[in-house]
Amino acid sequence: SLKKSLGQNFLIDLNILDKIVSAAGLDRTRGALEIGPGIGALTEQLAKAAGRVAAVEIDQRLLPILADTLAPYDNVRIVHGDVLKLDLKELVREAFPDVDKISVVANLPYYVTTPIVMKLLEEKLPLDNIVVMIQKEVAERMAAKPGGKEYGSLSIAVQYYGEPELVTIVPHTVFIPQPNVDSAVIRIKIRETPAVEVEDERFFFEVVHASFAQRRKTISNNLLSRFFAKGERDKLDKVLQESGIEPSRRGETLSIEEYARLSGILKRHLNS
Ligand code: SAM
Repeated sequence: SLKKSLGQNFLIDLNILDKIVSAAGLDRTRGALEIGPGIGALTEQLAKAAGRVAAVEIDQRLLPILADTLAPYDNVRIVHGDVLKLDLKELVREAFPDVDKISVVANLPYYVTTPIVMKLLEEKLPLDNIVVMIQKEVAERMAAKPGGKEYGSLSIAVQYYGEPELVTIVPHTVFIPQPNVDSAVIRIKIRETPAVEVEDERFFFEVVHASFAQRRKTISNNLLSRFFAKGERDKLDKVLQESGIEPSRRGETLSIEEYARLSGILKRHLNS
């Protein structure tokens, strides 16, 4: 039986599998890391397209099925485990000794999409791109530009490390069982260096999170409650002025460059 709790919705449409595989730009010189191979439908296409494939599956009951499906291929390694707990650097080093470009290709379990994508990005693995099927709404948030309600800390985190692009929207009828949400394939091309230069990455993301803490509040009110005492609004006003940011703006209107500048100036003021 399928485990809903593990986000087990299996893909049954060859066209979609094809689209996912070709979006990654695989060839025999490349490696593919799959998360959650399930019963191996996508894995099999990856085995045909890539030089080497490593696939991490948490559900032990699927291992014999995977072994069976993938028996004809000698370039696939199945790893049993929780991708959120695995040492991915080590896995990548061991599984792809002779390939220089690696793609992550997966139909992700939706209940852990964000933690998985963030882990892949933050660990700075030697990845060329990430091509994943995820919930449509999450894909739209990842790719969102400033100014709309989809734009938030997830957009900034993903765009700091990569360049996201929606590949296609996928109807729920191509899955067994059918999920109750629409899906999309997103490609995140990994940047060689982050989109903006920041002195202190952790602080940069802290400022971003704080700015979206209450979406309907202004940037000024969100930053005040996170970084200042009540009577210090004049200090904050100075920071915003120096950063070239109107205090009445909302977090969702600031570009990633503005957040980078703001976090640098704010940090200097807090330390002085
Ligand atoms: N790739 C298959 C397909 O496209 O038909 C299955 C995709 S299904 C949406 C997600 C898969 O991820 C399931 O096989 C599930 O058991 C597995 N999974 C869920 N959580 C996981 C985790 N933390 N680590 C590794 N695999 C996980």
